Amino acid sequence: MITLHDAYDRGSDDLKAAIRAFAARHPSAGTSASGTEPEPDWKTAEKHFIQLTEVIMGAAIPEQPDRNGIVRRAEQEALALLLAVNNRPDFRCPICAMPYRSPQ
Ligand SMILES: [Zn+2]
Repeated sequence: MITLHDAYDRGSDDLKAAIRAFAARHPSAGTSASGTEPEPDWKTAEKHFIQLTEVIMGAAIPEQPDRNGIVRRAEQEALALLLAVNNRPDFRCPICAMPYRSPQ
C-alpha cells in the first residue's frame, strides 16, 4: 500500500498541497503552546490515510484476486478526495470525523 509520504514525493504540486493540508488537520500535541503553527502529526495523518483507503476499498474486497489493482484504485480515490476537499477551509479528516471510530 502506498504511504502518504510516497504519494507526497511523487505527487504534483496540487497533490502536495492537498496532502500537507490533510496532515495539518492532525496537529501534534504540545507544539501549539509556543504560539507558532503546530507541526503536523504525520504518523496520525498516515494512519488515517490508510484507514480512508480501507474505507473506500470496503471490507469484503481483500479476498479478491485483483487485490493490488483494487488497492491502487482505492488509493487514487483517497488522493482524489484529498484534492477535492483541499480548497474547503472547514474540511475535516473523514476518519477523525467518524464518532464511532477511535480518535487515534
Ligand atoms: Zn484524521
